[in-house]
Amino acid sequence: MAKPKTPSNPQGRRPKKLASNARHERDCKLCHHQRREEIERAWTSWGDTTEIAKHYSLTRDSIYRHAHALGLFQKRRQNIRAALEQIIEKAAKVEVTAASVVSAVQAYAKINAQGHWVERFEQVDMRAIFDRMTREELDSYARTGELPNWAPELLRATRFESNEEVSDG
Ligand SMILES: [Zn+2]
Repeated sequence: MAKPKTPSNPQGRRPKKLASNARHERDCKLCHHQRREEIERAWTSWGDTTEIAKHYSLTRDSIYRHAHALGLFQKRRQNIRAALEQIIEKAAKVEVTAASVVSAVQAYAKINAQGHWVERFEQVDMRAIFDRMTREELDSYARTGELPNWAPELLRATRFESNEEVSDG
């Protein structure tokens, strides 16, 4: 018989993670920043990384490192509404067509707090698409209502996968 497997003991795995977190923390300016919460909130709400870095005297790299270490990327991805809010707000600063604002508002209204796209007759997990969209594609989507070329295929796949669960209601 092979060596007994290490029991799935959560406490056995923790120290490793804590150790790497501790190492991150030691060298991280953001972890020690007195306005850390504010910075994290700004970043996960799709604030511009360069601007945040400038504003708080940090580097973009340090923000990205911190975001990776703390799992903030996922948090930000789920925060699609915040990205759309920014597009809607931007309407006040730059010249945009009325249609683009309307489509951003419509998109905002259809996405629930978990980042799910809610249509009247179906619920599609848009996160799979937003995950892969660049900021530019997202911006273009809000302006034109058009998803990137690769999106329909991915959407079909997502819908197909979730068919089993859908029947449950
Ligand atoms: Zn950090």
